[in-house]
Amino acid sequence: MAKIAYYQDTIAAIATPFGEGAVGIVRLSGPEAVAITRKVFIAKNKKPISCMRSFSLRYGWVVNRRQKTEDRGQEIENMQQETGHIIDEVIVSLMRAPKSYTREDVVEINSHGGARALSSILELVLGNGARVAQPGEFTKRAFLNGRLDLTQAEAVLDIIQAKSELALKVGMSQLSGEVSRYISELRAKILAMLADMEAEIDFSEEGVSSNSGQDFKTGISGVARELTTLLEKSFQGKVIREGLKVVIYGKPNVGKSSLLNAILKKERAIVTPIAGTTRDTVEEFINIKGLAVQLIDTAGILEHRDDIEKEALNRTQKALQASDLVIFVLDGSSPVTGEDRILANQVRLKKTVVVINKCDQARRIDLAGLKGLIPETIVEVSALENRNIAQLEELIYRSVFDSRSNFDEGVVISNARHIEALKRSRQHLETSLDTLEKGLSLEFISLDVKKALDAIGELTGEVFNEDILNVIFSKFCIGK
Ligand code: GDP
Repeated sequence: MAKIAYYQDTIAAIATPFGEGAVGIVRLSGPEAVAITRKVFIAKNKKPISCMRSFSLRYGWVVNRRQKTEDRGQEIENMQQETGHIIDEVIVSLMRAPKSYTREDVVEINSHGGARALSSILELVLGNGARVAQPGEFTKRAFLNGRLDLTQAEAVLDIIQAKSELALKVGMSQLSGEVSRYISELRAKILAMLADMEAEIDFSEEGVSSNSGQDFKTGISGVARELTTLLEKSFQGKVIREGLKVVIYGKPNVGKSSLLNAILKKERAIVTPIAGTTRDTVEEFINIKGLAVQLIDTAGILEHRDDIEKEALNRTQKALQASDLVIFVLDGSSPVTGEDRILANQVRLKKTVVVINKCDQARRIDLAGLKGLIPETIVEVSALENRNIAQLEELIYRSVFDSRSNFDEGVVISNARHIEALKRSRQHLETSLDTLEKGLSLEFISLDVKKALDAIGELTGEVFNEDILNVIFSKFCIGK
C-alpha cells in the first residue's frame, strides 16, 4: 500500500490496563518520539537513545530533570544522588519508521505496572512535547499511513475483545489480510467489468450488444453470488465474534434452572420445587468447542402477579427477541398442558431445540399436543442426573455450524459494518442486473456497478470518510 500520511505531532498514552501489574507501558508515536524520550530517559550505558538501533532495548531510568546539564555522566551521578528526580526504573524499546506499528517512530517505555509510575511517566512525556492520544489513534495512524487496511484495523479490536478461541481465530485471519485479499479480488472483478463497460460506452453507438450484454450479466451475477455466499456465512461470523445468545424457555418447574446448572456444571441458578422460582433472567457464558455461548435462563411465566414478575416478563420477552437460539424445555414426566402450547407458539418462528427433561422418570408426555408448534430437533435429557447434556451441547453447536465439519475456515465476515456494506453492494449489483434486463443503456448499468464497487471499497477503506473512521476508532481503548 503506497499511502503515507505522516503526522506532525507525536502522541502518547498508557498502553496497558489501569491497576497494579508487573509491567506497564507508555507508548509514543510520531516524529518527536525519540527526541521526547531522550529528554526524559537516561540509559545505564550513558548513551543517548538516538544512537539506539531499531528493534533494540535499553535499560535505564525515567527522570524528571530539573536542571539541564551538558555533562551526561554528571547528570546520572546527580540523578542517583537525588533520587527525587528518578521516576522509575525502565526498559525502553525503539521501533523506527517505517517498520513499526504506526509506520512512525515508536518508543515504548516499559515501567513498573503501578498507576502512579505510569501516570507520572505519561505526564512527563506530555510535558516534553507529546500530545495525549485519542482512543485507537495508534491504529488509526497505522491505517492512514497504509500499514493496515480498515478490516485489519478492526480485527485488532476484535482480537482484543475476543471472547472465545474461535473469535480469536477469526480475528487473526482478518488481521492477516485474508478478508482484505478476498475483498480486493472481488473489487478487481468489478473494476474489470466497469472498464469493459466504459470501453463499450465509448466505442459503441448503439445500446448493449447481445454478446456483451450476456457477458456482463454473467459477470455481475457471479459477483452477486459470491456476496450472497459471504453473507450467508456472516451469521457464523457474527456469532463467533459476539457469542451465541441462547434462551432457555418453558413453563415453570419443567427444569430450566436445573438444566442451566447441568450445562454449567455448577450451582448458579436457584433450583426449588416451588413453581416460578426464577423471577429474573439468569445469564452465564459457556464455551462449546471454542464457541462462546451465552445461556439465559428465563422466568417462563405467562402472567405477572406483582411488579417484579412484570419486569421479569419484560426481560424474558427482550431476551427472546435478541436470542439466536431457544432451548424449549418440556417436562417428560407429565402430559403437555395449554401453557406449554402457548409458550411453544410464542417461539414458533425462532430457531429452536426442544428438550424433553426428566427422562429419568416414567415418560408421560405426548408430543401430539404440540404438533406444528415445535421443530423436529428434540433431545431427551435428565438435568438431575446429567444425562444427554453432551448431546444437547452438540445440538447447540450444530445450530451454528450445521455441516459435519467443525468451524469452516476461510473468509468469514463477522463485523456488522462489513455485513451492511456487502448487502448494499449486492443490492446495487441486483439493480444493475434489472437495468440490464430492461435493455437500458450501459451508462445506467455502470452507474450501479460503480456504487457496488464503492460499497465494497468501504470495507477495506479504499473509500472512507472521517465519520466512518471516528465510529470505528472510538470503540478502541486508549493506547491501541
Ligand atoms: P424451572 O422452574 O423450570 O427452572 O425448574 P427447576 O430447575 O427449578 O426444577 C423444578 C423441579 O424439577 C425441581 O424440584 C427439580 O429438582 C426438578 N427437576 C429438574 N430437572 C429434573 C430432572 O431431570 N429429573 C427429575 N426427576 N427432576 C428434575
